[in-house]
Amino acid sequence: MAIIKVVCAHCDTTDGVVKNGKAPSGIQRYLCRNCRQSFQLEFVYNANKPGAHERIVDMAMNGSGVRDTGRVLGISPTTVIKPLKKLVPRQVTSLPFDNEELVLICQMDEQWSYVGNKKNQRWLFYAWEPRYQRVIAHVFGRRTKKTLKKLIKLVKPYKFKFYCTDDWKPYGSELPEDSHVISKKLTQSIERTNLTLRTRLKRLTRRTICFSRSDELHDKVIGEFISRTWYQRV
Ligand SMILES: [Zn+2]
Repeated sequence: MAIIKVVCAHCDTTDGVVKNGKAPSGIQRYLCRNCRQSFQLEFVYNANKPGAHERIVDMAMNGSGVRDTGRVLGISPTTVIKPLKKLVPRQVTSLPFDNEELVLICQMDEQWSYVGNKKNQRWLFYAWEPRYQRVIAHVFGRRTKKTLKKLIKLVKPYKFKFYCTDDWKPYGSELPEDSHVISKKLTQSIERTNLTLRTRLKRLTRRTICFSRSDELHDKVIGEFISRTWYQRV
C-alpha cells in the first residue's frame, strides 16, 4: 500500500493531519491538529497551478469579489487575497509626455466609508488630462491638504498650461496662482466624460468592500486597475 502524507496548507506540518468530513461540494476536508485549521487539498492544488495568480488579479480587475474568484477558480478566499496583497501599482503614468504642455483637472472621489464609522473615509484624488483622455496620477487618502500635496508631488515632472479644479480651498493654496483655474462648469463637464471611469471604479470599490475592509487591499486593487487602464499604453 502506498501512503501519501497530507501536508497542512497553513503550517506545512504532516503530523496530526486527519480527515475531517466532506465539503458541500463532495471534496474531502482535512483538519490539522497542530494549528487547528481545516483545508481542502483541491484548493491548494488549484492555487499552485501555473497562471493562477494572474487569473486572480485579472478577475479582480474585472470586478470579481474575492468570494466569486474563489468559487470560479476553486481556491480558498484567504488564498485569493495573497496575490492581491502583493500588487505594487504605479501611482503615476509611465508615459513621457516630453515637453508637452498638459492641462490638469484635479478631481476627488469619495470611495467609501466604513459602515458605522464615518471617520474611515477613503478618498481617491486623481489628475485627469482632458486632451489625452486619461488619468495621469492618483493618490488615496483622507480629504486633506496632505493627500493633495502627494498628488501634486507626483505630477511635478510634467509641464502644465493650467490646473483646473473646483473651489475646494486647499487647491488655492497648493497650486500656482497664475495657472490655477477654478471652474465648476469645466470640472462638471469632465465629470460627464469621466462617467465610465466613475461607474467602473464605483463598481470595483463596491466589490472590493465586500471582501475587505482594509485600506491596503482597497488601494492596491483600485490602484492596479487605474494603472492598467491608463498608465501603461497610449
Ligand atoms: Zn496546520
